[in-house]
This record gives sequence, structure tokens and C-alpha cells, in this order.
Amino acid sequence: MADITIDKACCKGCDICLSICPKKIFVRSKKRNDYGTNMPEAVNRDACLFCGMCERLCPDGAISVRKTEEEKEK
Ligand code: SF4
Ligand code: SF4
Repeated sequence: MADITIDKACCKGCDICLSICPKKIFVRSKKRNDYGTNMPEAVNRDACLFCGMCERLCPDGAISVRKTEEEKEK
């Protein structure tokens, strides 16, 4: 399971994360940030490959992906 966080103070809702994740982990949620942007939400986190694409390609550096303690022990 991946611990995925999206910084709501940075995300501008460009949807790049939705399109580049090979496992389609990001979906558009109904939650809005202070700019009125509908935030992406990470679902199906078990499927994360830890490829780092979302962290590298988010233009605002809003995404952080970490392994949970449980995942590190595998
Ligand atoms: S790529 Fe970054 S800025 Fe764009 S929607 Fe995803 S989290 Fe927000
Ligand atoms: S690390 Fe890779 S598989 Fe995991 S959420 Fe980001 S783009 Fe998707």
C-alpha cells in the first residue's frame, strides 16, 4: 500500500497525474481547494508501482508517494 499525499495548497488541477499514472490511481474528487480546484484523489493505492512518475511530472510538486511501514517489510 502506498502512502500518497496531495498538497491542496499547490495543486492547480491540471489532471496530469490522472493521465500519466500507469495504474490509474488518481481520480477527480468533489473536494475543492482554496482556489476552487477539484482535487485529485488517490484510490486503489494497493496497485501503486512506486514508479515515481506522478511525483516527477506534477508541475507543482504537489504529490508525495511513500511506502508504508508494511510495504517496506515486504
Ligand atoms: S499533476 Fe499535480 S497539479 Fe496537476 S492535478 Fe495532479 S496533483 Fe494537481
Ligand atoms: S508512483 Fe507510479 S503507480 Fe504510484 S501513484 Fe504515482 S504514477 Fe501511479
